[in-house]
Amino acid sequence: MAATATERKLLIGGEWVETGEWLEVRSPYSGDVAGRVAKAGAEEARAAIDAAEKAMADPLPAHKRAEILVKTVSGIARRHDEIAAQIAAEAGKPLKAAKVEASRAMSTYTFAAVEARKLAGDVVPMDAAQAGEGKLAFTFREPIGIVGAISPFNFPLNLVAHKIAPALAAGCAVVLKPASQTPLSALTLAELEHEAGLPPGWLNVLVGPASEIGDVLVEDERVKAITFTGSSEIGWGLRERASRKKVLLELGNATPVIVHGDADLDEAAAKVAANAFSFAGQSCISVQRIYVQKWVYDEFVTRFLPKVEELVLGDPAEEETDVGPVIDDDARERILSWIVEARDSGAEILAGGGSDGDLLQPTVVANATPDMKVCREEVFGPVVVLNTYESLDEAIALANGTRYGLQAGIFTADIRAALRAAKSLEFGGVTVNEAPTFRSDQMPYGGVKDSGNTREGPAYSVHELTEQRVVVIDL
Ligand code: NAP
Repeated sequence: MAATATERKLLIGGEWVETGEWLEVRSPYSGDVAGRVAKAGAEEARAAIDAAEKAMADPLPAHKRAEILVKTVSGIARRHDEIAAQIAAEAGKPLKAAKVEASRAMSTYTFAAVEARKLAGDVVPMDAAQAGEGKLAFTFREPIGIVGAISPFNFPLNLVAHKIAPALAAGCAVVLKPASQTPLSALTLAELEHEAGLPPGWLNVLVGPASEIGDVLVEDERVKAITFTGSSEIGWGLRERASRKKVLLELGNATPVIVHGDADLDEAAAKVAANAFSFAGQSCISVQRIYVQKWVYDEFVTRFLPKVEELVLGDPAEEETDVGPVIDDDARERILSWIVEARDSGAEILAGGGSDGDLLQPTVVANATPDMKVCREEVFGPVVVLNTYESLDEAIALANGTRYGLQAGIFTADIRAALRAAKSLEFGGVTVNEAPTFRSDQMPYGGVKDSGNTREGPAYSVHELTEQRVVVIDL
């Protein structure tokens, strides 16, 4: 049975299930109901794990897994614009960014299918040690077991794709809990996988109270790995509670970018402005802290501010909109209060600083000190902070002055400065002459420090979700 566009059931053991209770999904822009989703609880979570266990008792061969993943790519392609409109409706993501997300999900599935087909082990050079003489050994990779996947609101399609496509490529059944605010895209992906021939139980999708479903995933010993993308506090809390499981964490950031004196300032201003405010700054690697070498600061600001001012605020469903709403009223109030705190403590607001109706204006704050929340914490909103530095060492120290470590960037024409920054910035990724918001889905993507403990990207996720078994043969 296919789910309807506005009323979606849960997927458990290959069945679309109603529970009698419903959750409303509302547009963060208009407040209109974008859909209704059946609400799951602990009982459905346990049923989903039962279904996943049953599915894994009958493993799917790699060619079949790859074929299903490739068919899912075709499904997304066929419904690309409808899926993008759905992302815009449930997340408030401007349509042009939502279209990019839909295309990226196709790329994620394509790379996962490749990984399914090339999942292989190694031959161990046994006679390299005296103990190994006369023996042959090789390894193969076995699926880790049932994967519990928890995803955030901000990329409701592609981050779900990064959870489920590599797990299926690895041969693992999945119990997915998408964000309650944006579950529709996840259910559409489930529908496409179902249509692509995924047998019952390999993918189960539950929408409902996070702690209730999360607790079942943590406590049930049959769930061998939890892959989580979201905020640091919740992620690290899950890891502490699930000490016997593999817990893979993709968390937040307070993304810095260094604009060195020799950089192409036009390029830097354009790329930073586009990447600080896209999706109202609600990307984990949205540019937040900009450090500009002192002698080019004024020149940079002269180029940067007009680019910020030309961004179009508005309805995410409109093609020309660059900046839409933040996810909810609480987020808007929190972000506004951080701007006020910065202003009241002596920072200068160069652009924005307030809201147009319910939409936060793209906001540029100068001279904020490191102790202010807009510098210290993850803003997750359309706010950037501009500061100056004298030497590259100082810029690197400022950029590293955070508990986070996901991605950072530098604009410079000096290869030595670029490589020094790449070595010294304590982040999982460093971009050079590109905004640190850049991600292509096959990259190893993930953080250090509070930002996480793993790398996502189908090849890396498949590695994390499989275990190596060694076979030793006495010749
Ligand atoms: P969030 O509030 O941490 O929620 C993420 C997911 O965790 C949601 O599905 C949420 O469910 C669930 N959750 C909440 N409490 C839970 C609990 N006690 N046990 C189990 N699951 C629980 O994050 P968000 O606001 O959706 O997303 C924004 C955050 O994600 C930012 O910090 C951002 O930087 C980070 N992020 C990181 C990456 C990356 O790749 N590193 C990518 C995107 C976003 P409910 O929705 O039902 O509450």
